[in-house]
Amino acid sequence: MADLNAALPSTCSITIPTADTELHDVVPRWSNHGVSLPYAVVTPSTVEDLTSTISFATANHKKIIPANGGHGSFVPINGETIYLDMRNFNAITLDEEHGTVKIEGGCVSKDVLTYLAGQGWYTTLPNSNAVGVIGSFLGGLSHALNGMKGFGIDHVQAITIVPFSHPDGFTPHPITLTTASTGEEKALFNALCGAGHGLGIITSLTLTAWPIPCLNMTNDQIWTRRLIFPPTQIEAAARLYTSLLPPPAELNHVLGFLRAPPTAPVPGAPMVLLSLSYFGPAAAADEACKATYEEEYTSKAITAVTGTTGFANMNDAFDAINAHAGYKEYHGCFCAEVDAASIVSAFEDWVRFSAKDAPARSRSYVVIGAWSTEALLKNAGKTGEKFFAARDRGVFVQATPWYSELGVKGEADAWGKGVVKKLRERDRAVGRRDWCFANNVLAGQDVREVYSEDMIAKIGDVRRVWDKNFVGWGIVDGW
Ligand SMILES: Cc1cc2nc3c(=O)[nH]c(=O)nc-3n(C[C@H](O)[C@H](O)[C@H](O)COP(=O)(O)OP(=O)(O)OC[C@H]3O[C@@H](n4cnc5c(N)ncnc54)[C@H](O)[C@@H]3O)c2cc1C
Repeated sequence: MADLNAALPSTCSITIPTADTELHDVVPRWSNHGVSLPYAVVTPSTVEDLTSTISFATANHKKIIPANGGHGSFVPINGETIYLDMRNFNAITLDEEHGTVKIEGGCVSKDVLTYLAGQGWYTTLPNSNAVGVIGSFLGGLSHALNGMKGFGIDHVQAITIVPFSHPDGFTPHPITLTTASTGEEKALFNALCGAGHGLGIITSLTLTAWPIPCLNMTNDQIWTRRLIFPPTQIEAAARLYTSLLPPPAELNHVLGFLRAPPTAPVPGAPMVLLSLSYFGPAAAADEACKATYEEEYTSKAITAVTGTTGFANMNDAFDAINAHAGYKEYHGCFCAEVDAASIVSAFEDWVRFSAKDAPARSRSYVVIGAWSTEALLKNAGKTGEKFFAARDRGVFVQATPWYSELGVKGEADAWGKGVVKKLRERDRAVGRRDWCFANNVLAGQDVREVYSEDMIAKIGDVRRVWDKNFVGWGIVDGW
């Protein structure tokens, strides 16, 4: 085996773990699933660092995982992996004249959100501060304004990538892809938009950006409303949530099942949270959400609060779920329709699962989000073929078991799959196909739930050109 330290430029920081190395000291990950000590952790600073790492991995049959936010719980990391920590690629450049923002390959959502909000601008960014922008883009990039804009992949202007291999067989080098690319480069550009894992190392992504004032929000603030219901009122909460389907483009509403934190008056108490965000004038928000002010619902809620938040802080309320601890996986799906009875039944299952061995599983949660599908459908095919099939699905389900002992996995899987099955009942009854999110896949995922048969064939073709030595990990073919 060649010496990695000798093979890479001195601008790289390199850690080769030993048997005594503490895993989390070298590989910070959101979930412990599928992660063991890597072959090496490399922190590059230059493009030459990237090309040298690819050459080393190719010649020595190693694998590369470029790491951004560390939230990809489905990505395997083991003794064959070079874990490429992209943190030094952290520049963000707003081009106001062209309405674009260039985001380097190691930026997480909060970095970009804060920077852009400071300039009075926004773009499509993951709803969670600590999630990597590139990591989420590769699977589609769902965000708070899906209803108005569609997914992040619908707003890509350019991608600069060092692919793991090239059609011409030359040594690794960066290329910049745009909607104007042609041939194999166009095929790569398209695949990176939703089926992008394992094709190379992205150094930057350029997305469309918009001025915040164009949203016409009152005082440029996002209107928010939160209602918390006790478990005894789950039926009312589920009825209220479904009564708001489908939401107008400006509204994003989420029903969450979660337990009260240790600092709450009744730690661990189950709660139902209905969280609404409106990206438009406050008066229009009040009108769109008028059902949430009705006595029928407010009388049953523990709290019902209307407020505002600025763009820079819009994700802060979800920071608790970014904690790096324990085992977590996403069981999820996209639905066209859900009914209140399925939601109630899924809630009862969650209460039972998350109560066991308290407090070991009490951070397990369910979210059922909703958006208008109008923009997603309108964007289809506009700037090339993107790898997102569920454009007609406006309900997003995510059941997240969170536990500390691996032995719970069997039970956690059964619970997660049960939630998904219940929420899919309406769609399955009318023969709709099962779809789930590339960004929330499970190890062993049936990829036909993520991509159509035609897409799967195209992903294989792209892989054989741009990662012909299987240096990268992809959802369809793995290593
Ligand atoms: C708490 C939480 C909230 C989430 N919220 C959202 C959301 O709002 N919207 C959404 O769409 N998804 C969301 N996700 C899913 C998330 O997009 C995926 O888990 C994604 O893979 C995470 O990316 P990461 O960079 O954080 O993780 P990582 O594990 O670092 O990376 C994930 C994958 O992306 C690849 N990758 C990362 N950076 C690069 C790069 N520069 N070049 C090439 N490949 C790269 C990695 O190799 C890996 O395959 C969320 C996940 C969690 C856990």
